[in-house]
Parts: sequence; structure tokens; C-alpha cells
Amino acid sequence: MIISMRLHATKEEIDNVCLRIEEFGYKVHTIQGEERVVIGVIGTGDVTLCLESLQAMPGVENAVRISAPYKFVSREFRPGRSRIRVNSTEIGGAEFIVMAGPCSVESERQIMETAQAVAGAGARMLRGGAFKPRTSPYEFQGLELEGLKLLRKAKAATGLDIVTEVMTDSDVELVAEYADVLQIGARNMQNVALLKALGPCGRPVLLKRGMSSTVKELLMSAEYIVAHGNSNIILCERGIRTFENSVRNTCDLTAVAVLNELTHLPVVVDPSHSTGRSSLVPPVCRAAVAIGADGLLVEVHPCPEKAFSDGAQSLSIPRFQAMMRELKPYLELWRQARLAEESLAV
Ligand code: PEP
Ligand code: MN
Repeated sequence: MIISMRLHATKEEIDNVCLRIEEFGYKVHTIQGEERVVIGVIGTGDVTLCLESLQAMPGVENAVRISAPYKFVSREFRPGRSRIRVNSTEIGGAEFIVMAGPCSVESERQIMETAQAVAGAGARMLRGGAFKPRTSPYEFQGLELEGLKLLRKAKAATGLDIVTEVMTDSDVELVAEYADVLQIGARNMQNVALLKALGPCGRPVLLKRGMSSTVKELLMSAEYIVAHGNSNIILCERGIRTFENSVRNTCDLTAVAVLNELTHLPVVVDPSHSTGRSSLVPPVCRAAVAIGADGLLVEVHPCPEKAFSDGAQSLSIPRFQAMMRELKPYLELWRQARLAEESLAV
């Protein structure tokens, strides 16, 4: 924040403003200009409340916020990329990470078959919802604990790390026992109680952008998790609501480039929920690689036409395998770009 004092502000007014800033827990940097005093405010806290309080004080002409309201997730805080470690995998580093699997865990056979297939095709993590936030209460709600146990079996069989959704703060401990990465769904991006509970959970978080949320709001949600003690966050662009209705959601790929400027956190793209149609998934995957995403979250099902949820946007196993093959030359260019970036940074 920057506070500009009025032209003829008295010493007492200036001292009072400085005291008030310190009461909020901030540090004060006073600059005595030729005409007026300008006060710089440094630190973290409730900026809005502090600004409103200072604006009301005698002698203050203007109080403005200069830095983004998110601090710890910003590129200013950490100029390079953060690498998020998930066991032996690193997201945000020199490898493009594909997370793949069904929308929902449905049965042992379904999750095992998918896990084996996506592992064989080069995926590094297995996705699959055990707790499903469905739009209708009459739709499949997930196998819950049974689903988590099946994911554990699939991990044991394939070595894939597990990313699965947690919907409420009271389930965080349970899901963290089974998952390697906790997914926060689009509908829960601003569930503050849930975000706070992720602080001490001990697992990296995959935070999906809300379908009606701005990039800034996404970063503020990530800031919540960091502020509560967990800085291992992967952001996910999964499409937003627009007037366009030829697709389920509009994939805001530009957001990936914007996020790469604003934050050090890795960003993955979910081409499945972004489009709602499996034929659009491979081209959006290629575009995500080209724009500099750190990975993908893709829905794959052994029999999409029989899926309990999101079948229309799920790739069959052969189509996933074909997509992974087709992605290879793009990934080679991606690797070169990353290496070039790293050598520039040194
Ligand atoms: C999902 O990943 O299956 C899901 C429910 O995604 P979103 O929260 O982005 O709708
Ligand atoms: Mn889904």
C-alpha cells in the first residue's frame, strides 16, 4: 500500500497514520517528498480493512493498494517456477505430467483396467473421483470410501500416484490417507472452510478454477491454502462459463499464459471438462502443451458409452494411447522450451 498525505498534513497527523499502520501489523516506510509525505506500507494482513481505515484518517489524501492481493503465490515473491513434488514425480519442472483416468471410480475392474492402460501409455498419475460433486442429486455420487480403497489397489498395481477429489473439510484427513494429491473441484474453489483445512493436510493440492471465477480469484484461493501452511499447489484450468454453447465450457487457454506471468505455481489443463466432447480433447491437449502448461488432467474410460459420469468427454483407451503418441513431437518442443528457459534463468 502507498499512503499519500495531504500537502499541509501536520506531523501529528503523519505520526497517527504511522501508528495506525503499525497497529495493523505492517511496517512503515516514510518518504519525505519535496511537497508531501508519502508512506509505504509493507507486510501481509487485511489490506482492505487497513486501506479503509487509513482513508478515513485526518491528513490522508489517498491510500492505494500497489501490489496484488495475493503475495505468496505471486511471481514477485518467487521469480522462478515452483516444482511440486509428488513422491518421485515433479510438476513444474523439466517433465510434462499427464494425469489420466476416469471421471468416477466405478468398479475394481474399471479402475484397474484404466490404471494399467494409462500407465502403459505414459501417464504419471491416476485420476478418479470417489466423492463426486454432481449437478443433480439423482446422478451417481461416487463410491466414496470404497472408491478410495480401489484407487489404493490401482496404485499398488501400477505405481501411479493418485489424484482424487475431496469435497468437504471433514473428509480431508480421510482422503489424504489414500490420495497423493487432493483435488479441489471447480464448484469448491471458494469453499473457504475446505481451503483452510488443506493447510495442515500434508498433501499437494490440485486446485481447479471455478467455472465462473477470474484468474485473480483462483490465485486468492491458492493464497488461502498457502496462508494456512501448504504451499504445494498445482493450479488447473478446466474451462469457464461463457455465452458460447458449442462446447460444455470455454477452455481459457490464455489463462495458462497469464498465470505463468502472475504466479510461480504450476498450471495444468483439463481438456475434458473444458470441452465436454472427446473429439476436442486431443487438439486442446496439443494447444495446452504449446502454450506452456505443466501438464494435463484427462478423463479416460475403458468403455465411455457405459461411464457412470462424463462419458461423452472421456477418451477410450485406444484413443488415449493414440493421443499420447501424437503428443510426442509437441512434448519434445516443450522440453526444449523449458530447458532454454532454465538456462536463461541461470
Ligand atoms: C472432475 O474432475 O471430474 C470434476 C468434477 O471436475 P470439475 O470440478 O472441474 O467440474
Ligand atoms: Mn468429470
